[in-house]
Parts: sequence; structure tokens; C-alpha cells
Amino acid sequence: MATEVISRPEVRQTQCFIGGQWVPAQSGKTFDTLHPATEEVICQIAEGDAADVDLAVKAARDAFDNGPWRTMDARERGALMMKLADLIEEEIDELAALETLDNGKPINDSRNVDLPLTIDCLRYYAGYADKIHGQTIPVRGNFFTYTKKEPVGVVGQIIPWNFPMLMVAWKWGPALAAGCTIVMKPAEQTPLTCLRMARLAQKAGIPDGVINVVPGFGPTAGAAVVQHPGIDKVAFTGEYKTAQTIMADASQTLKRLTFELGGKSPNVVFADADLDAAAAGSHFGLYFNQGQCCCAGSRLFVEESVHDEFVEKLVGMNQSRVLGDPFDLATEQGPQVDQAQFDKILGYIERGREGGAECLTGGVRHGDNGYFIEPTLFDNVTDDMSIATDEIFGPVMSILKFKDMDELIERANNTFYGLAAAVWSRDIGKAHNLADKVRAGTVWVNCYDVFDAAAPFGGFKMSGIGRELGEEGLKNYLETKTVTVALD
Ligand code: ADP
Repeated sequence: MATEVISRPEVRQTQCFIGGQWVPAQSGKTFDTLHPATEEVICQIAEGDAADVDLAVKAARDAFDNGPWRTMDARERGALMMKLADLIEEEIDELAALETLDNGKPINDSRNVDLPLTIDCLRYYAGYADKIHGQTIPVRGNFFTYTKKEPVGVVGQIIPWNFPMLMVAWKWGPALAAGCTIVMKPAEQTPLTCLRMARLAQKAGIPDGVINVVPGFGPTAGAAVVQHPGIDKVAFTGEYKTAQTIMADASQTLKRLTFELGGKSPNVVFADADLDAAAAGSHFGLYFNQGQCCCAGSRLFVEESVHDEFVEKLVGMNQSRVLGDPFDLATEQGPQVDQAQFDKILGYIERGREGGAECLTGGVRHGDNGYFIEPTLFDNVTDDMSIATDEIFGPVMSILKFKDMDELIERANNTFYGLAAAVWSRDIGKAHNLADKVRAGTVWVNCYDVFDAAAPFGGFKMSGIGRELGEEGLKNYLETKTVTVALD
């Protein structure tokens, strides 16, 4: 079959973006960023650390304290954000290709999922810029009391590599609408699209110093963001273990913290479900983005009576899944992002086998170049196996059988995670019952991975603190100020 292969984009931004200037790291150091499908070095990126973060915080502080971002007409602020979204849309093909180059995700996904969601999120929050206001509050006595909603200040934003551009939009959108200024640290694996977005933000007319980007590593640049006294809030997306370090590091300055962390999400298929739809949705809910999704439906609970029939459908889909060059429009699954993730996933697969789970598809590397792993399906998984308890962040699905609802709820909730859950059933009562009882921040009924900029997303338990997206996502970037005026 002839397929169309998209050409590789040119890389233009590789330095730190501080106060509107492109600058090398103070140390002069750089690091490589790789194309995960070939393991080739794409280019060198400035390796920022505490010194660069300090300069970025000074620029962001100045832009916050001395304006004009925070003080400008809020409608104008929204218009500049709209302009940024428009510029991204104008370069949509190139940005999608850049994302695929740095992350390895199939071009079809970056072009048709990541980019549209990125643009939509920025537009959604642009619309909020002039709709942020407080209340008037009746109080005892002859006083007039009102609240104002003010930007929290300079925010540090630390993001992962699985949806590089989209995570920028989830972070910048509410921060910019609120009037905050930003020091962002993109993931060391995928800095390219974040840097390009910074360039587009400048082109859109967002004032210098409002957005600063310091690429670098977590324990150096990331930790410096968390510890810097000039930063008021940190928003972080990544692993819960990193969040534990961040929480400890932030305690000295008592920064506001929001976390969007991992998950081990239960995806429940009842016997009365539309099994074809459930199989397709479950396949998508786990293998999409090479399984590198915090909300991946990685514990697939299947009602015993339909187990065999359902598993057969899943096996068929895995066998026909197309792995290969992520620049090929026909490719459905690309490589994992790097060697460390690749090794970690293969380690879990090994432990799954050793533990007695039955590997029905995959379980091995695909090809001999790049970090590709075949879509892997484990059957006969028990709740205590590490493939059923740990976040694998790869294309590894675990099937667990269940008999009835009570047993299921207890098992579904038996995890310290609580990010997402899904249920497939034609019985509306059953579906709502599960949605009611499962301890998770998002529940999908007869669908999976449906995201919208307006719908809050985040975790119960150790899957996070606070919500992103929607109005709740905006509130994390606002302080409430109460003003009381004596009327006599
Ligand atoms: P992953 O293992 O998926 O890369 P991490 O939680 O390690 O997830 O990384 C998410 C983001 O957190 C990355 O940008 C990374 O550089 C950053 N990071 C890692 N360690 C720290 C740390 N100690 N302090 C601040 N940021 C960190």
C-alpha cells in the first residue's frame, strides 16, 4: 500500500527565551534532543539551570509588577491570546511535524489531536480574560464589602513530554487569561514545540517577559523553579514521585501548588455493553499515544461472561495495529519517547510474564531501531501483579475478570491513584452507579479520552491536587482580595 510520508520540519528555536530574548544557558551547556523513531540527535538545546531560572524569574517579575500584562484592558489581553491561537493555526502542519519529530507520536495524532486541542484551549481561555470578576457581599454593619480576583503572580510551570504542546496550552491558557506571568520548564525530552510557541507568543504581541521558557533537566532547572522565592505558584504535570519532591521543595516558600499526576485507571466492560464499541474504545483508551497517557485505561475489567469474546476482539485490533515511521500518515503507533521509558516498559512486561500473566500479543520490541514496543496484551492478570498496580506509561494492557458490581467497585478503587475511569454498559443505572462510586476525577461512560477545554480534569487521591481546564482550572491562577469600605 502506498502511503504518504510527511517531510521533517526545520528546527529554529533552541535557546532559552528570557525577557523576549533568545539566549544561551549561562553555563554555556547544551543537551541533545532525539527523534525517538531513529534515536538520531535532532539538535542541541540550551541547558538551563538555576542561573537561567533566576534571570527568567526577574523578567517575569518585572513583567508582572510593572505591567502592562496584568493591568491592560482584559479584552485586549484576550485578543492577544486569540492572536497566538491564530498563529498556531497558521503553522499547524509545521508545528505538528515538529511535535512528531521531538516526541515520536504519529503525525496523524499530532496534526489531528494535539494541535486542534492546543488551539481550542488557548481560545477557550482567551474568552475568559474579560470575564474574571469578584462579588459584592452583604456583611453586618454599615460596610460595603466586595471581592476582586487578582492574578496569583509569577507562575512556574513544569510539564512532561507526552503531550508537549497541549500541556503548554493547558498551562499558559489559564495563567495568561488571569494576568499572570510565566516561567516554563518544558520536559527535557521534548522542548522544541514549547520554544516555537514562545516565538509565536512574541509575534502575537504578548509583551516580553510575560512568557519565559527555560529548557533543562528536572533536578536542576525544574528544582530551581520550585525553590525560587520570586515564583508564587507552581503548576506541575508528571509523576507523583516528582510531585512529592516538588511539594517538599516548595514548602520553604509556601508556594501554591497544583498537580496533575499519574493514574492506573479502571476501564470497566459489562456484559450488556456494545462490545464492538467497547473494544474499540478500550483499545484507543490504552494504546493511544503509545500508551503514554496519565489517564490510560490500563486496568481493563471485563465481566466474566463476555471475557473470551471480548478478548478476541482486542487481540484482532492489536494484530492489525500499524507501527512504524511516525511521519507516515498510515502509522498508528510510533516509538516510546526515550530509552529510559522503553527499558521501564519492557521491565514491566518481563515481570508480568514472570508473575504468571498470559501475554496474548506483543511483549517485545518492534524492529531494531527506535524505541518501538509492540502493542502488548496481558490476560489472566490478578490485582496484585505489578502490571495491575503500577503506572507503566506504555502500550501494555492488563485484563482482569470480574463477576459483579460490588466486587468490581472495591477492586477498581483499590489503588492510590484516582485520575480517571470508564464504564461500558447499555444499562444507564449501572453506568451511573459506577460513575457515582468510583474515586476518580473523570469518568467516561461509553467513551474514552474525551477531552474538552471546558471540562475540568485532574485527580482524586495521589493523582493530583486541583483541576486543570474549565473554570476550575482558571481559579488556580487567581487570588481573592476582599475589600471592605466603611460607609459612614
Ligand atoms: P517523567 O518520568 O514522565 O519524565 P517526571 O515527573 O520525571 O516524569 O517529569 C515531568 C517534568 O518534571 C519534566 O519537565 C521534568 O524535567 C520535571 N522534573 C523532574 N524532576 C524534577 C524536580 N525534582 N523538580 C522539578 N521538576 C522536575
